[in-house]
Amino acid sequence: MTTQQKIEALRDELRQHNHSYYVLDHPTISDYEFDMKLKELQALEAQHPEFYDANSPSQRVGGAITKNFETVVHDFRMYSLDNSYSKEDLLDWEKRIKKLVDGDIQYTCELKYDGASMNLTYENGKLIRAVTRGDGVQGDEVTTNVKTINSVPLQLKGDFPERFDIRGEIILPIDGFNTMNEERLANGEEPYRNPRNTASGSLKLQDSSEVAKRPLECLLYSIKGNNLNITTQFEGLQKARDWGFKVPKEAQLVNTINEILEYVDYWDKQRHNLPYEIDGIVIKVNSLYQQEELGFTAKAPRWAMAYKFKAEQVSTRLNEISYQVGRTGAITPVANLEPVQLAGTIVKRASLHNADQIEKLDVREGDEVFVEKGGEIIPKIIAVDFLKRPLNSTKTKYITHCPECGTGLIRPEGEAKHYCPNYEACPPQVVGRIQHYISRKAMDIDGLGGETVALLVNANLIKDYSDLYALKVEDVIPLERMAQKSAENLVNGIEASKQISFERVLFALGIRYVGETVAKKLAKHYKSINNLMTASIIDLVNVDEIGERIAESVVEFFSSKENIDIVNRLKDFGVQLEISAEKLANQTEVLNGNSFVVSGVFETVSRTELKKLIEDNGGKVSSSISSKTSFLIAGDKMGPSKRTKAENLNIPIISESDFLAMVAKS
Ligand code: AMP
Ligand code: ZN
Repeated sequence: MTTQQKIEALRDELRQHNHSYYVLDHPTISDYEFDMKLKELQALEAQHPEFYDANSPSQRVGGAITKNFETVVHDFRMYSLDNSYSKEDLLDWEKRIKKLVDGDIQYTCELKYDGASMNLTYENGKLIRAVTRGDGVQGDEVTTNVKTINSVPLQLKGDFPERFDIRGEIILPIDGFNTMNEERLANGEEPYRNPRNTASGSLKLQDSSEVAKRPLECLLYSIKGNNLNITTQFEGLQKARDWGFKVPKEAQLVNTINEILEYVDYWDKQRHNLPYEIDGIVIKVNSLYQQEELGFTAKAPRWAMAYKFKAEQVSTRLNEISYQVGRTGAITPVANLEPVQLAGTIVKRASLHNADQIEKLDVREGDEVFVEKGGEIIPKIIAVDFLKRPLNSTKTKYITHCPECGTGLIRPEGEAKHYCPNYEACPPQVVGRIQHYISRKAMDIDGLGGETVALLVNANLIKDYSDLYALKVEDVIPLERMAQKSAENLVNGIEASKQISFERVLFALGIRYVGETVAKKLAKHYKSINNLMTASIIDLVNVDEIGERIAESVVEFFSSKENIDIVNRLKDFGVQLEISAEKLANQTEVLNGNSFVVSGVFETVSRTELKKLIEDNGGKVSSSISSKTSFLIAGDKMGPSKRTKAENLNIPIISESDFLAMVAKS
């Protein structure tokens, strides 16, 4: 056997084992043997780069980094689905479509997998690209990440069409999700909220080897293409299975509306026995010919209907109400519950928001409470089961003092939350501010995590974020779990943050109500921290979109001598506290007062660049068209509904070059 044949044979064998394991759930080899064979393949491939294959099973471990996900226009638009919430809705739908097509109608009933939609394109049996749904017309190309998902075949088998798209849902099975969260908790990190958001967030990670670590799966439900030689939806599902895709076997072909209703009922009860979350059922007209006759509305096919399950509710005991202190000093009451299964996950805690909410629900420790989970929201307590209230129950008294530092709480007028005013010394506030400062959207300091910040504060090495810049390698080495290398990374990461732009530094300072967008606005308007520091409330409220609440908070922040000292220290260390000259040169106000919607694909600039140009020149970017829109910038393949809407509202539709002319410097 030549080396090339050996490599091919190993790839084939690994492909088959992979399919048995991840698609059929029926392993044909031990994990150990699989790893050995994979190592053998990797070694051979490393020695023989001339036989590289982008779709080799070795590519699944990831490693490639994607800095920017490219926007790709779908060959076939990815529509949304119409939703129904009751049996009556389904009966109405059946009546409607019966009027529109001749003959008997068969239906395919499928589970509605709750994850992130994905479009995979195959050419000559090889996966050539994977694109998120995006706005349906165009999405982000995430091929490198999707290749790491084991149930996505990189090479098809059997009799597949030359080129086609196949759509599915990237999901995170509940077990895998729970394991990921256990690890996070063990590392002192916040657990992920729910499997769906975690699945969709994973697709946009820059490091594909991180994606490879996550137990994602891809469940397929629809094939699109030309001359496919498929006549029904159900047949399409079967063929996809034959080519190596994972298509859940729960899909069922039925003949009557009654059978549809039975399917819905069955899965409404049984859904928690599935290994992954579903949020409903999708019913599709089976014949592709009839589908074509029915066509699409502006947003969804007429031939399909989603039936959404109601949010699930359970009751459980509220053991204790505890109080958390955030980095701004805001107090959040938390309900600690007797752990209970809810929509596939175990719920132990729920937010009670604030004192008013507790008052309104009259919720007390020891109560039996109804907990509900809807969509991505964290579980919430919707009511107390008063029938089960213990006799000795006493009304909840909201705390009056900070649970962390003992300071008396205040409640600013017009606000729902209580605050601990001990800005300078309340531990979670001190640590929280620094954690915010280093966080990804702020200074994004590599090599420094939230836990280390707490250690640094406890060891009296830092009191505020400006102290970070004075840290030396030898200061941090004595900390728990710190080695020479990690200490160096930490110090280098801090040093590198001196390059972060002024607007992000401003966000990082953690001024209350100054989020990312407000920080951008303020940075743009004032251009330097010196100008901002001396601005009065009246000055501030005159800035577009800056309200009184923000203005007061900014003035208050800079009225503290402590804060001024910190800012001055940052300045001395070389942190960016003014807009760079280069950026300044590119900014104008020519688009002041104009709001733009950007749609489609552009030739000379990317959408991101276009949006930046709008903002740098004083304009506003908005995602949907309304009477407040000044211009619609139309690129290639813009959705027809945006055009119609703009025309109806008499909003000027301009081209890319029209726009570029508007901002061109004369
Ligand atoms: P919605 O996001 O509510 O408009 O619902 C449409 C989405 O449901 C599609 O984009 C798919 O990602 C998802 N979906 C999940 N399971 C299925 C299925 N079996 N058939 C079609 N779409 C599905
Ligand atoms: Zn406190």
